[in-house]
Amino acid sequence: MQTEACTGEAKTEKLKVKEALQAEAIGKRVLLQGWVRTRRDSKGGFSFIDLTDGSSIKGVQVIAENKLPNYESEILKAGIGSSVEVVGTVVASPAKGQTTEVKAECVKILGYSDPEKYPLQKKETSMEFLRSIAHLRTRTMTFGAVFRIRNEICRSIHNFYQSRGFMYVQTPVITASDCEGAGQMFKVTTLDLQNPPLKESENKKSEIDFEQDFFGRATHLTVSGQLEAEIFATAFGNVYTFGPTFRAENSNTTRHLAEFWMIEPEVAFCDLEGDMDLAEEFLQTIFKDVLENCPEDIAFLNEKVDNTIIETLKGIVETKFERLTYTEAVEILIASKEKFEFPVEWGIDLQTEHERYLTERKFKKPVILTDYPKDIKAFYMKLNSDGKTVRAMDVLVPKIGEIIGGSQREDNLETLERRMKECGLNPEDYWWYLDLRRFGTVPHAGFGLGLERCVQFVTGMGNIRDVIPFPRAPKSCDF
Ligand code: ATP
Ligand code: MN
Repeated sequence: MQTEACTGEAKTEKLKVKEALQAEAIGKRVLLQGWVRTRRDSKGGFSFIDLTDGSSIKGVQVIAENKLPNYESEILKAGIGSSVEVVGTVVASPAKGQTTEVKAECVKILGYSDPEKYPLQKKETSMEFLRSIAHLRTRTMTFGAVFRIRNEICRSIHNFYQSRGFMYVQTPVITASDCEGAGQMFKVTTLDLQNPPLKESENKKSEIDFEQDFFGRATHLTVSGQLEAEIFATAFGNVYTFGPTFRAENSNTTRHLAEFWMIEPEVAFCDLEGDMDLAEEFLQTIFKDVLENCPEDIAFLNEKVDNTIIETLKGIVETKFERLTYTEAVEILIASKEKFEFPVEWGIDLQTEHERYLTERKFKKPVILTDYPKDIKAFYMKLNSDGKTVRAMDVLVPKIGEIIGGSQREDNLETLERRMKECGLNPEDYWWYLDLRRFGTVPHAGFGLGLERCVQFVTGMGNIRDVIPFPRAPKSCDF
């Protein structure tokens, strides 16, 4: 048994598989650590091990000769999923489709994996099944590509804002302010659910006494960090949040999660035009970065998942987005004579089918809709002079529909207070938010990008649950 000292005395360089695949690595004596994707034993007296470590879609081919002392006793037992450490020399590969391979002088098995029991078999497995083994799906080629791209998108996002002087602000996960509507919120409490303290309400009904709860008031998980981000924007100018967001909406769609990540830039001295410019440049930068920095992962997904993604992303990077008002969009939808499941009339909240018609069929590119009816948008959006619409903007993309939702914020104190009351909110609960208008108000605007919608769009994955490491959705909270 040669379990120790695989590296020996001679000089070894620890490489990632990604690095060992490059021509520059040829001639180096290297240490590689990873998992067996496949092992093929040749009659010629050696085995080919396809070794992966998550650093690239491609594995490196390791050649283990039967002269190795543990060849029969160990290497031939190292099936798919086994973890191994290899020391060997990187050589030019005679095989097609790969530049290098590794001639092993030592293969140490760190952990065996029974090929009969290993849940990930070579044959195609469904996304639903893979979701049930989220602790292992990360080792598949598809999820490898998706999560490397997700990482690149996160890097690109921080880089985009940091390089433009935006401050990264961490808004709270637990909050007492209600940004979008109470129905969608997860309560946070330490009260005994079997026996909560009760008090008599104004209309003589008994209700839970949240004054006795941990925070002395009702609290819940945040649905958006926007209101808090506005505090920072009105002190630092340009800020962004990047954090988890929770919505208890019972919509079992392929585009909704109960826990997702949102990026919310907020910019002072900025109107809706500036907001749209920022959103457009932001998306284009992300897509450009992914195309440039993840070419192999994107090519893989383009072949296996959706053969339109490369063309679509390249097109978007070079094209100006279409911009039109909600009212114009409604006119187009009505004139289209299309049979929609939800009929269109002015005032309705547009459904995904309407959004997709506009981006996929009418304009064939991303579309920014502006100036929505105030009744279907949040209280904080700036009221237009028509008194009916607000300075909102949604960015729509093919297949997904809405990917970004944003607006110029109401910066007039009286209008904001009136809008709160109209929306059934108590201005006193938002005293600090109103103070931002009371003391040195400025025009400001921002938006929210759903990280998973973005990853879904870039990767072409059909279900949003397959672009987040551990999806949370109605009746589903595993791992
Ligand atoms: P939708 O109409 O698609 O449900 P929304 O109008 O509720 O979205 P916003 O409140 O504007 O969404 O949130 C900003 C962004 O957050 C959306 O554009 C979207 O990208 C993302 N988002 C919203 N809800 C979810 C969700 N449940 N799961 C994943 N992403 C979401
Ligand atoms: Mn929205």
